[in-house]
Amino acid sequence: MATVFAKLIIDGKDYGVSALVVPLRDKKGKVLPGITIKDCGRKMGLNGVDNGVIYFNHVSVPSENLLDRFTSVNDKGKFESPIASDNRRFFTMLGTLVGGRIGIPRSGNSASKSGLTIAIRYGDQRRQFGPEGGTEVPILNYRTHQKRLMPLLANVYALHFALEYLTKRFLNRKEEDMQEIEALAAGLKSFTTWNTTTTLQECRECCGGKGYLSENRIEILKNDTDIYTTFEGDNTVLMQLVAKSRLTEFKQEFSNMNVFTILNYVAEQAKTTITEMNPIITRSTDEEHLLDSEFHLNAFKFRERDILTSAAKRLKRHIDSGMDSFDAFNVCQHHLVQVGFAYIERVILEQFILQVEATKDTSCKTVLKKLCNLFALSQIEKNKGWYLEQGYMEGVKTKAIRKLVNQLCWDVRQDAVPLTEAFAIPDQCLSAPIAIHQ
Ligand SMILES: Cc1cc2nc3c(=O)[nH]c(=O)nc-3n(C[C@H](O)[C@H](O)[C@H](O)COP(=O)(O)OP(=O)(O)OC[C@H]3O[C@@H](n4cnc5c(N)ncnc54)[C@H](O)[C@@H]3O)c2cc1C
Repeated sequence: MATVFAKLIIDGKDYGVSALVVPLRDKKGKVLPGITIKDCGRKMGLNGVDNGVIYFNHVSVPSENLLDRFTSVNDKGKFESPIASDNRRFFTMLGTLVGGRIGIPRSGNSASKSGLTIAIRYGDQRRQFGPEGGTEVPILNYRTHQKRLMPLLANVYALHFALEYLTKRFLNRKEEDMQEIEALAAGLKSFTTWNTTTTLQECRECCGGKGYLSENRIEILKNDTDIYTTFEGDNTVLMQLVAKSRLTEFKQEFSNMNVFTILNYVAEQAKTTITEMNPIITRSTDEEHLLDSEFHLNAFKFRERDILTSAAKRLKRHIDSGMDSFDAFNVCQHHLVQVGFAYIERVILEQFILQVEATKDTSCKTVLKKLCNLFALSQIEKNKGWYLEQGYMEGVKTKAIRKLVNQLCWDVRQDAVPLTEAFAIPDQCLSAPIAIHQ
């Protein structure tokens, strides 16, 4: 049997997509009349999963096969639904996809953990070159090797906490939270699965020729997770969904504001400009300031707010000048994807900071704080062009951040192996000879 999603049309009126249970084969396994099944063929990965195409040609099923949680047809042949609005019903149906958009990034992040465990253990054992007349050194002592792997290790920890937060929000969801949870799931799915693809490629290269051997498993991890950026919603499309949700919320916030709250909002924005954008701060290279979580979060929030407000203004300007809304969105598409990124990066950092604060064990807290700093500063370094364009930071500050990221990579390297042990992946599951302790 299959659950088939199809349009429900009664007397020519379209009630949108509904789910139907449709038998595909008889008791002997023979395909029923009107049904054709084809396999999609061999794929890049996930070949343990059957993907196929099913064609239905004049196939009928009794009306009781309609899954009637959201739509049903009564004895008189009339449509009934507990959700009156067609639009809301459609989005409620789509809402069931949220569970998948949580499972996929969790699985993607697990694959990143495996890849990093393999590459970091290998890097800690594999020796190359070294000082004149001295012994060879573990390749993980090379600064470039650290810069390639340590920020990815920080990302995986950051995403672990963010995905835990999303899962809890989803499990305790209330109707009124759904829009936010959907945006969170779409954004985290995209960010995490893109990160998985980048991480596994880097892990493969960091293991040199050994990484290319199938027995060391990075091949299969790469091939099986590559599609995560596409299925359960293509990442680029999902990031636009996140942006649209943020814009809707922004519009609602503004329309709910009276004159005084709008004035307050403007005053708050001006306060940011005075406190965070004064030359003492924009040029500050003071280490204490650069390692302060408040500075990190303020920088992420500034980016989020600025990109969101400028995207909203830009869209409004195009629409006010008579541009069709499809074209207006298309012209602003790159900007909208950045709205999604800025939002999700802020959520990830916020959760990481909360996790560090909640950690009781002092040595554990120290290591987590270093990872959190590395995550925050690597993201700022990645976006430094934007911060420089906005005048939020000056060159001296971004240079100091670059230096600090390299220093943090060195610091985190000292705990890198235990940090992968903490993933607790059993050796028999890791199953990569280069990652097994000798
Ligand atoms: C192994 C596998 C399993 C799958 N399993 C299921 C399943 O169980 N159920 C199911 O329903 N589906 C399933 N799918 C389908 C999957 O969800 C789609 O492949 C995915 O949503 C992308 O759609 P598409 O393939 O039509 O790509 P397209 O929409 O053709 O996208 C191609 C490219 O165009 C870009 N693009 C498309 N639209 C836009 C836009 N508006 N703005 C900017 N860029 C855009 C995309 O970013 C992408 O890079 C599966 C796919 C695969 C490969």
